[in-house]
Amino acid sequence: MSVTEHEVVIAGGGPTGLMLAAELKLAGVNAAIVERRLNQDLAGSRAGGLHARTIEVFDMRGIADRFLSQGQTAQIVGFGMNRIDMSDFPSRHPYGLALFQNRIERILADWVEELGVLIYHGRDVTGFTQDETGVNVEISDGKSLRARYLVGCDGGRSIVRKTAGIDFPGSDATTSWIIAEVEWKEEPAWGFRDSATGGHAIGKGDAGHARMVLSDREVQSGEPTLRDLSEALIDVYGTDFGVHSPIWLSRFSDVTRQAVAYRDRRVLLAGDAAHVHPPIGGQGLNIGVQDAVNLGWKLAQVVKRVSPDSVLDSYHAERHPVAARVLKSTMAQTTLRRADDRAKALNGYIAEFLTMDEPRKRIAAEMSGLGVHYDFGEGHPLLGRRMPDLDLITANGPSRVFTLLHGAQGVVINFGEPRAIDISKWSDRVQLIDAKYAGKWEMPAIGEVTAPSAVMVRPDGYVGWVSDGSSAGLADAMTKWFGVAR
Ligand SMILES: Cc1cc2nc3c(=O)[nH]c(=O)nc-3n(C[C@H](O)[C@H](O)[C@H](O)COP(=O)(O)OP(=O)(O)OC[C@H]3O[C@@H](n4cnc5c(N)ncnc54)[C@H](O)[C@@H]3O)c2cc1C
Repeated sequence: MSVTEHEVVIAGGGPTGLMLAAELKLAGVNAAIVERRLNQDLAGSRAGGLHARTIEVFDMRGIADRFLSQGQTAQIVGFGMNRIDMSDFPSRHPYGLALFQNRIERILADWVEELGVLIYHGRDVTGFTQDETGVNVEISDGKSLRARYLVGCDGGRSIVRKTAGIDFPGSDATTSWIIAEVEWKEEPAWGFRDSATGGHAIGKGDAGHARMVLSDREVQSGEPTLRDLSEALIDVYGTDFGVHSPIWLSRFSDVTRQAVAYRDRRVLLAGDAAHVHPPIGGQGLNIGVQDAVNLGWKLAQVVKRVSPDSVLDSYHAERHPVAARVLKSTMAQTTLRRADDRAKALNGYIAEFLTMDEPRKRIAAEMSGLGVHYDFGEGHPLLGRRMPDLDLITANGPSRVFTLLHGAQGVVINFGEPRAIDISKWSDRVQLIDAKYAGKWEMPAIGEVTAPSAVMVRPDGYVGWVSDGSSAGLADAMTKWFGVAR
């Protein structure tokens, strides 16, 4: 049997696997994706958009415009049935982007192709064994791949998670919905509708198709038929609008589960493989992409023997709590979406709270991903939070912080006396920029913070060290995140 070697094998080329492959490739890692589908075509449009932090993440890699030019920016953040305006947020992207997942994946796949990532299409990862130095990955074509690490980005039914024996506890479904994209003969009743069975929605999809989400009368599993859709429509609307020729017909539920561990030695999980929850609030794709950005640079450093393997434990430590919170939020919002009078009364109260500035800002920061705070201990409010995309003046002229991150490398930005900071022992891994910034330092939901005299920004855009006016703690932070001094 032939064995091909890669440094990292990624099972699954959905949004998470594609983003991870790009991050690894930017860091010079030989990573390959094994993807079941023959190409990037997606049956149905699935996710409907991107939240602000994901747009920022793409901006950090210089590809935000590819998405922005194909979608529609809008205030898409919501909680329960309540929309929240975050247009006053201190971000270059204080909005979401309405863009279906099939387009998002296409753009990511084109980028990954430009970067030269190898994708084994039309093949399944069927299993693996791991030893002290690597993982043997079994592929459905009978071949085997050998890698230092395997990452399961293979969705909610992840074979990687199951083979690793990682528990996936959570809550079983209490509600299920039929989702469909269909052609129609009679103009559908666009918009939301409540009935005794729950909430329903019909929106416009690509090419004049109708995109429908209908609550099942009772929890169902398994794929629905066109007849099931037709009957559900008649139940709620009194007509099935002459639906025909389904482009996508599927079912999803509010099943909510999370992997107890994101890592088992040389095997890691990211995206839906690590967490599943109902799509209320539109979070799944977004946190999957952000899992990938958190993991990519760490895994690259371990593969390149720059950092010890233990740095990978920080991936679980940082990302598990983020998804746990999303799971909680979707459980709460599922309850708010119920069509009974009590849920409506509760929604009314939530709506009132969300007209108040502090709750509005806190929930919008959470739902948009701009409020993520990794626990790096006590310190300046920037520590563990996203670095804002400031307009800088550098020796080479004006620049933006996010432009400095295009290559997915860490950066130390010194706002104090030029040459006051020395990171020469890490200069092969991290760039140092002397810069001036004259504006306010404002953080989503927190407000203005004290201007630091220097910061270290990790490749994923989170602040790993803040100067108190001296270089105290810098060497420790550099060693922790970028390996020992050379
Ligand atoms: C109706 C609906 C609406 C949604 N709306 C939103 C939204 O608005 N916003 C949002 O952020 N999220 C939304 N989501 C969630 C979003 O679709 C998922 O969270 C996202 O697709 C997860 O990406 P992923 O790459 O982790 O997994 P997936 O997209 O599931 O990708 C997994 C990939 O792995 C491949 N694969 C699976 N098994 C194997 C194997 N053994 N070997 C090789 N390849 C394999 C699959 O073919 C697939 O390409 C929605 C989901 C649904 C169902």
